[in-house]
Amino acid sequence: MIRFEKVTKQYADGTTAVKSLNLEIKDGEFFVLIGPSGCGKTTTLKMINRLIGVSSGTVSINGKPISDYDIHELRWEIGYVLQQIALFPHMTIAENIAVVPEMKKWSKEKMAARVDELLHMVGLDPATYRSRKPGELSGGQQQRVGVIRALAADPEILLMDEPFSALDPFSREKLQDDLLDIQRTIKKTIVFVTHDMKEAMKLGDRVCLMREGQVVQIGTPSELLTNPENEFVREFVGMQEMNLDWHDVITPVEDASVNDQQPVPYTMPLNELLERMAAAEVIAVEKNGNVIGVIHRSNLLRKMAQYVKQGGRLHE
Ligand code: ADP
Ligand code: MG
Repeated sequence: MIRFEKVTKQYADGTTAVKSLNLEIKDGEFFVLIGPSGCGKTTTLKMINRLIGVSSGTVSINGKPISDYDIHELRWEIGYVLQQIALFPHMTIAENIAVVPEMKKWSKEKMAARVDELLHMVGLDPATYRSRKPGELSGGQQQRVGVIRALAADPEILLMDEPFSALDPFSREKLQDDLLDIQRTIKKTIVFVTHDMKEAMKLGDRVCLMREGQVVQIGTPSELLTNPENEFVREFVGMQEMNLDWHDVITPVEDASVNDQQPVPYTMPLNELLERMAAAEVIAVEKNGNVIGVIHRSNLLRKMAQYVKQGGRLHE
């Protein structure tokens, strides 16, 4: 578990980037930090592996403050992926992937096997790619190598700072899918920074929305969608703009036990329906004066979350 306790970061010029942050990131969790530019996402991420030191408060991993870890141990045990593809241009793909295993003095055989295994994992044929140079790969392929390089020494934690934002939409979606597959198989703790809400909703087990160095709300994607804590969250999540027609995701079901005196019209738009449902777990729907069925809040939320997870169209 990664834990932030009252963590504050003030830079030398007086900018307070992170203010008394409290966070708990669980083992095996895909945790997304999101928020407008300058809200402190990168600072938060870099404090985890001590690329940036805290001004006050404590970051701990598995109960031990990061200041008590050996710095090399910390860097090697935490994978790190940047937005800019940062492969070494003169080294082969295999050498790039093996940087940390090399430092950890793995045997040649073990390293070679690991490189091939990882290339396989992201759909790059080892025989074709292991001896190429980064310049001979597309941007999407290079970033794929960036991701597996971070995984090479099998770290427990993976930090990713807008890793896909420089890619074209097609490669971005492909890498998101790959990463979800990888996460399902290897169950690392991933802390992922993005400013793209659609990406956050698709990837995150939980999403932490930040503003001005503080947490505004933490929750599952469906919690943020359906229970935004305030107007900022609502706007950021793009609820109003979400291109979703509830009729596409749910059909009212018959339920004779529900005797709702105030059915909503079938034509009611999603945002109004959600407002009504905030006060009622179940609501009846009428069409042409007849109640045609009911909608359960939990069902609607689940269907909406599924829709978003499957890459539903959110306003960007
Ligand atoms: P984000 O990643 O969410 O865009 P950052 O963590 O990079 O935000 O930055 C948070 C705030 O700290 C911003 O106001 C930024 O300008 C400031 N900042 C970042 N790095 C430094 C630095 N080295 N010195 C001074 N201010 C910085
Ligand atoms: Mg940043």
